[in-house]
Amino acid sequence: MPKEQSFAQRLIAWQKTAGRHDLPWQQTRDPYRVWLSEIMLQQTQVATVIPYYQRFLASFPDVAALASAPIEQVIEHWAGLGYYARARNLHRCAQQIVAVHGGIFPKTAAELAELPGIGRSTAAAIAAFSFGQRAAILDGNVKRVLCRGFGIGGFPGSAPVDRKLWELAETLLPESAIEAYTQGLMDLGATLCTRGTPLCPACPFGEDCVARRDGRQKELPEARPRPKIPERTSTFVLITDGTHLLLERRPPSGLWGGLLVPPEGEVDQVLAARGLTVSERQNLPTLRHAFTHFRLTLQPVLCHLPSQPAMVGESGQVWIALDAAVNAGVPTPIRKLIQLLLRPGA
Ligand code: SF4
Repeated sequence: MPKEQSFAQRLIAWQKTAGRHDLPWQQTRDPYRVWLSEIMLQQTQVATVIPYYQRFLASFPDVAALASAPIEQVIEHWAGLGYYARARNLHRCAQQIVAVHGGIFPKTAAELAELPGIGRSTAAAIAAFSFGQRAAILDGNVKRVLCRGFGIGGFPGSAPVDRKLWELAETLLPESAIEAYTQGLMDLGATLCTRGTPLCPACPFGEDCVARRDGRQKELPEARPRPKIPERTSTFVLITDGTHLLLERRPPSGLWGGLLVPPEGEVDQVLAARGLTVSERQNLPTLRHAFTHFRLTLQPVLCHLPSQPAMVGESGQVWIALDAAVNAGVPTPIRKLIQLLLRPGA
């Protein structure tokens, strides 16, 4: 783990020599420009943002100009950047700054975070870059750097890990040079400690980084845990006289709606409900099938009728020749079951 005091010092020193210094929004402390760039940079790459930022400023040079512009014109300038809620919030925020704050941006991260579209991390970035306020940022890039640097496990989007990261981010803040420190965190996440393969040999934390020391760069930060997919098991009764198979049409809606499937349910109940008596029954190997929302284990039970049944089934029932059943309108796992029956020796 990088020693907490030296973390900031090393980052600041690295930012000064190896960080980014020529981005269009770095040449100013104007909160309007800083705010605009921070909102545009959410979920969007620097190279994409630059021309949008410049066009936006040319049309709306200050917060008053933006506040008085029609929303349609703002959206037009945003077209192509995506996440359009950002543009609508930007416009609302500009109007609120004019109406409530007399056109002057509030100076603290806490007040900035009250405005539309400005979250805690963005508020801290604006306060640090515009007013030199000592406030912690924690966007996706910073979470990655901290999880790796300090070996923090768990999904960063979960409440306990998020809390831990905010606490750490606050602890790490330097006493001075907050702009270089904040920019350094952003630069490190964007240029060295990238999502794919981080460029560890060039990193100022070197072997003090937990992920690098333990070779866990690919594991950290941890991915969102996958929701557990429910499992279901169902018995399908394959009733046959040796040449034909009983299939039934499903109701039009629901699983396999309108398709032909063998009767489903507890074997004795299935047989009793259909007035059938079988001479032999045999459990066949189970088959697993994955649906989008659950996994189904099919337990097929083969039931032999002692004699050929009447070929006229009840409504919705079809006695179908085994070799024709494969090509009837049956769902994939049922087709696999029928193919098993057709195997020589089955
Ligand atoms: S050493 Fe590598 S993994 Fe660790 S913070 Fe630096 S770039 Fe990221």
